[in-house]
Amino acid sequence: MKKDEKEKYRKIAELGCSLCRHQGNEGTLCEIHHIRRAGKRSAAPVIGLCPYHHRGSNTSIHGMGRKRFEREYGITEETLLAETIRLLNASS
Ligand SMILES: [Zn+2]
Ligand SMILES: [Zn+2]
Repeated sequence: MKKDEKEKYRKIAELGCSLCRHQGNEGTLCEIHHIRRAGKRSAAPVIGLCPYHHRGSNTSIHGMGRKRFEREYGITEETLLAETIRLLNASS
């Protein structure tokens, strides 16, 4: 992993879970989630998600799948990404 990439991941991790934040709970400990689009995984944009929203069997993006996750929480992965990018730009 390149140094600037590592730095970016660290900043995203510091923001906490993007969905918890959307729900009004800032700064929940989070893991890095890669948003899958066409192309290489290493170039995939990332957001922070807590274990509950990342891997929980009926509460998370991987547990439910993206479509159900987006319906359940009323927000899309892309919106969470846009908000993450906005916060990153605001903090630097
Ligand atoms: Zn969360
Ligand atoms: Zn993930």
